[in-house]
Amino acid sequence: MPVKKHPCPKCGEPAVSSWRKCSLSSVGPLSKVHCRKCGAEIGIPFLPSAFFLLLITFIPFITGFAAIKLFSPPDGLFWGMAVLFLGFLAPIPPLFWLYSRYVPLVVKGI
Ligand SMILES: [Zn+2]
Repeated sequence: MPVKKHPCPKCGEPAVSSWRKCSLSSVGPLSKVHCRKCGAEIGIPFLPSAFFLLLITFIPFITGFAAIKLFSPPDGLFWGMAVLFLGFLAPIPPLFWLYSRYVPLVVKGI
């Protein structure tokens, strides 16, 4: 499956894969990559990045506990943990999709 790359904000060449873009955020708003075509430093603007980190930190806990409330798993640690775990993981792919789709790339260090 070909990985769609996000274009460099400076020269428009495909420069950053979605995985790379997610890792840009996970290692912090100050990180950046270099465009292989024009050498521009590409990063994520601070506010959207910080906001996304906030979402990915809190939403899984909210959905995890919501899943427990919703499905009221049978007694026993295993089922409680399983439901909590699934509820915890469920929002992560859509969150990353939103992030990949809507958080812009910017040229840094000018
Ligand atoms: Zn470029």
